[in-house]
Amino acid sequence: MPVLVMKFGGTSVANLDRIKRAAKRVGVEVAKGYDVIVIVSAMSGKTNELVGWVDETSPLYDAREYDAIVSSGENVTAGLMALTLQEMDVPARSWQGWQVPVKTTSAHSAARIEEIPTDNLMAKFGEGMKVAVVAGFQGVSPEGRITTLGRGGSDTTAVAFAAAFEAERCDIYTDVDGVYTTDPRITDKARKLDKIAFEEMLELASLGAKVLQTRSVELAMRYKVKLRVLSSFEEQSDTAGTLVCAEEEIMESNVVSGIAYSRDEAKMTLVSVADRPGIAAAIFGPLSDAGVNVDMIIQNIAEDGRTDMTFSCPTDQVKRAEKAMEDAKAAGEINYHDLIADTNVAKISAVGIGMRSQSGVAAKMFKTLSDEGINIKVIATSEIKISVLVDRKYMELAVQALHDAFELEKAA
Ligand code: ASP
Ligand code: MG
Repeated sequence: MPVLVMKFGGTSVANLDRIKRAAKRVGVEVAKGYDVIVIVSAMSGKTNELVGWVDETSPLYDAREYDAIVSSGENVTAGLMALTLQEMDVPARSWQGWQVPVKTTSAHSAARIEEIPTDNLMAKFGEGMKVAVVAGFQGVSPEGRITTLGRGGSDTTAVAFAAAFEAERCDIYTDVDGVYTTDPRITDKARKLDKIAFEEMLELASLGAKVLQTRSVELAMRYKVKLRVLSSFEEQSDTAGTLVCAEEEIMESNVVSGIAYSRDEAKMTLVSVADRPGIAAAIFGPLSDAGVNVDMIIQNIAEDGRTDMTFSCPTDQVKRAEKAMEDAKAAGEINYHDLIADTNVAKISAVGIGMRSQSGVAAKMFKTLSDEGINIKVIATSEIKISVLVDRKYMELAVQALHDAFELEKAA
């Protein structure tokens, strides 16, 4: 039997009615002849509540107990989903991570999946089980303790199962009906994409389009798992949602596929550092050791042997970055006059695989922003992405203007 993976996020299993609705969808696929692996999240809000309990009980908690507690939300949904399916006469069984087993590293609260042996589930499918309901987000460490994969991790569970079982597809049911050209809350011209390439989705996911956990897209790309993102609140159809797939499967696409934004990026400037060989290493080495995720970097032209170095990093890492720089200065490894943190910025990015073959995208982006009187503070580019930092107050305007300029409301 071909295998299908169906993942239901927190809002799709938020109460018993919604679980019933999701179970009906599973029933439709079973009727088509699939062996279905259902991956469930905790009911919406549940994981946050559990995390809150942990924090209140023990601010410097033992990460093994955090995982034991926080993983439990998924256990409840898995059992309820299996019962609901049984009530519909669909042979179903729930599985917790350790029962499969989903073997992970022992990095508690941020574990990585290392292996998912298929024999246990396959044996049960062979005995007539039609649906395996697996608790997402959790696994078991080599030491035999429960682990979790990081917030949003059940997407990654779903893709990992699809890869391990060579599933025909991995359907991710969520509260949005697909991936959009930009956030529909910012412009009503935002258009749902029928297809998007793995690489584009990866950029959009890591840039703050919060539909899928970034790691799940990385995994899907590596194992060529066809991913479909669709809403559990809309009518079911075979073409619903957005298909995240290999580039080759997309015939026609716009040069720019989407405009992403992020409010969580800060701009840091080291004023007047010595312009000498090794200075970049002396700055970015300690930042990396301190766990700061530097994204964009600008080194200004030197004057009298001194220069300014600007970089961006997530806002919640500013303190850590400042400390790393102060420590490096105190140790005599670098020297600067001032360190200025600007947290009033937003990062806007245009993403599209079409950029590889088309020139002029950057020029058009800069011209559009300049026509709106928006000053660009930092620029970074990759093969399929151009990002700029602008004042946060222009964020919406920038997204709208770029969405218009690249005519994203129209399909290619
Ligand atoms: N329940 C977990 C969370 O809220 C995992 C997930 O839903 O993906 O992060
Ligand atoms: Mg999620």
